[in-house]
Amino acid sequence: MVVQCDKGCKKFFDVDIQEREHGEGIIESYFQCPHCNSEYTIAVTDEDLRKRQDEVKQLIEKMNKTKNQVEHAKLYETMVKKKEKMIRKMNRLNKKIKK
Ligand SMILES: [Zn+2]
Repeated sequence: MVVQCDKGCKKFFDVDIQEREHGEGIIESYFQCPHCNSEYTIAVTDEDLRKRQDEVKQLIEKMNKTKNQVEHAKLYETMVKKKEKMIRKMNRLNKKIKK
């Protein structure tokens, strides 16, 4: 994936995703601009969040399989709620590691 370095030098580069551990099971996925070393965090997860990511994946699989509209709507709603909670938690983790 090619992106533009909009935090730093504005040059384009190919993303090379790396992972960094912050202790307590917290893993940050990030990439760096090879031109100016600006860093971009993609996601910060801990064990709990990774477990919830799996749950969301399973919900999406179920959604794709079901032909029942009502069930589909219910699954969708559950998935959206789960994702909202995950985003809030991810933001908290993000703040924690950026301290
Ligand atoms: Zn750059």
